[in-house]
Amino acid sequence: MDADAIVVGAGLAGLVAVGELVAAGKRVAVVEQESAANLGGQAWWSFGGLFVVDTPEQRRLGIKDSFELAWQDWQGSAGWDRLDDEDTWGRRWARAYVEFAAGEKRDWLRGKGIRFTPMVGWAERGDGRATGHGNSVPRFHIAWGTGTGVVKPFVEGALEAARDGRVTFFHRHRVDELVTTDGAVTGVRGTVLAPDDAPRGAPSNDDAVGEFELSAPAVLVSSGGIGANHDLVRQLWPDRLGTPPARMITGVPAYVDGRMLAITEQAGARLVNRDRMWHYTEGIRNWDPVWPQHAIRILPGPSPLWFDALGRLLPAPCLPGYDTLGTLRHLRTAPGLAEHDHSWFVVTQKMIEKEFALSGSEQNPDITNRDLKLLLRTRVGKGAPGPVEAFKQRGPDFVVADALPELVARMNALTDTPLLDLDVVQQQIEARDREIANPFTKDAQVMGIHNARRYRGDRLSRVATPHRVLDPAAGPLIGIKLHVLTRKTLGGVQTDLSSRALAADGSPVPGLYAAGEVAGFGGGGVHGYNALEGTFLGGCLFSGRAAGRAMVAAG
Ligand SMILES: Cc1cc2nc3c(=O)[nH]c(=O)nc-3n(C[C@H](O)[C@H](O)[C@H](O)COP(=O)(O)OP(=O)(O)OC[C@H]3O[C@@H](n4cnc5c(N)ncnc54)[C@H](O)[C@@H]3O)c2cc1C
Repeated sequence: MDADAIVVGAGLAGLVAVGELVAAGKRVAVVEQESAANLGGQAWWSFGGLFVVDTPEQRRLGIKDSFELAWQDWQGSAGWDRLDDEDTWGRRWARAYVEFAAGEKRDWLRGKGIRFTPMVGWAERGDGRATGHGNSVPRFHIAWGTGTGVVKPFVEGALEAARDGRVTFFHRHRVDELVTTDGAVTGVRGTVLAPDDAPRGAPSNDDAVGEFELSAPAVLVSSGGIGANHDLVRQLWPDRLGTPPARMITGVPAYVDGRMLAITEQAGARLVNRDRMWHYTEGIRNWDPVWPQHAIRILPGPSPLWFDALGRLLPAPCLPGYDTLGTLRHLRTAPGLAEHDHSWFVVTQKMIEKEFALSGSEQNPDITNRDLKLLLRTRVGKGAPGPVEAFKQRGPDFVVADALPELVARMNALTDTPLLDLDVVQQQIEARDREIANPFTKDAQVMGIHNARRYRGDRLSRVATPHRVLDPAAGPLIGIKLHVLTRKTLGGVQTDLSSRALAADGSPVPGLYAAGEVAGFGGGGVHGYNALEGTFLGGCLFSGRAAGRAMVAAG
């Protein structure tokens, strides 16, 4: 045997498992199709938001959270309807994960040197029902260092183990097959790819220069999801979300190609919930792309006006920051919209300054570089954060104007045919402006703005003082063309609570484990249909840790 365990994929899930294996004295081979520059995978690029429950950071901001509330929210979001089959293990994983998030998670992370910023975000505010989708309270904790801070201890641990020979990295080695002996997975086989010095995240060459085979009594597949493989996304796109857009943009590097899913299935593992995915509707084209069709997600506050391609305001709960998949479903199924791939934010300068954040480590230099002064200046001070302002000036999806007629004309110039009627747009904005003037309203979005401002964290750094959109003092006006951005995979390899891959008959495939996004973040679908956000990195930590510990226990 070449190692005690083989880990396929050096993203967060794989590296967490490596840490557990090395701590128990095991020798690990890490097989990764990309170069060493990409260590940490998607998590390095991430915003570093983590779902944690009932923390000192929440309490300091006056938030009362509990396991019971979080579990209620999780169940309402998941909407499991395959409990005697595909959801059996996903639901068990979810319960264990929420217990982890409300229990040892924060201390475990602190033990690794991971700390949170004092801000706790309120992601996925939900669909308006107590038993439905969404977070009842803010619980999106942002790690200092964003995603780079989350992966750091695991990358450093693996590199240190590599220096003294406990870990061997096989970079530019692409697994094409899992080797099976007498029904047990005993290794991997694949292609050695030519060296590539492309910077982190940029696409690499596909040139084969050789073949390889490695053997071990345990193999962990931690190869990520399918987000960069639009063909697979389209093939698996569920009817409930209408038709997939003709054009989507990509929220993950090209290596999130989904190839390992079929390879793992061939070795006997069962794939479940493949129709469940998590794509965002607030995607913008990166003016400075790293990977093909590089998309950035706007993390909006609650105030932007959101119009469909035909200029109709979206109905509640399709509001900014509320219900990601509900909004995607609306945009793909509402009458007249299927042939259009975009929607629009209309915001004021005042909104963009306070309410816009962009997901990604490179878009948040203040948090990524752990610069508290810059953080305060950026998030509480005047002016839009630098990266947001850069998009406003240079982003191909942004138009700016002092008055609405000019703005609508510029928005229309960004589409093949002019679809927006100034009078229709203006009438809706004026109606909304009439609702903003007093503390009472019948407009659900305005109610949401008032609600958000009751939370100290939002009032301080995330929600603009309510104002009329057409008030020239709040301008200029900004129109932003939004695209569907592919990101996360909610289904995958079905696993038990030890991250052992399960066969169609429910028994573990000997020697085979799966963790992270390829396993639907645990169980083949820990989220069910919807995510509460910050649960993906956490799912990698939790399922990667379970896999590492189980491989150690199996000897
Ligand atoms: C911009 C951005 C922002 C995000 N923000 C957040 C956030 O704030 N909070 C949150 O919870 N989540 C966030 N996420 C999601 C989260 O980062 C990912 O879901 C998570 O990191 C996936 O980790 P993973 O280890 O499962 O897979 P990956 O990071 O995709 O790693 C898998 C690795 O396997 C390798 N691989 C694949 N196939 C093969 C093969 N055949 N042979 C060899 N190697 C292979 C790949 O090259 C890759 O390096 C964000 C993601 C992005 C891109």
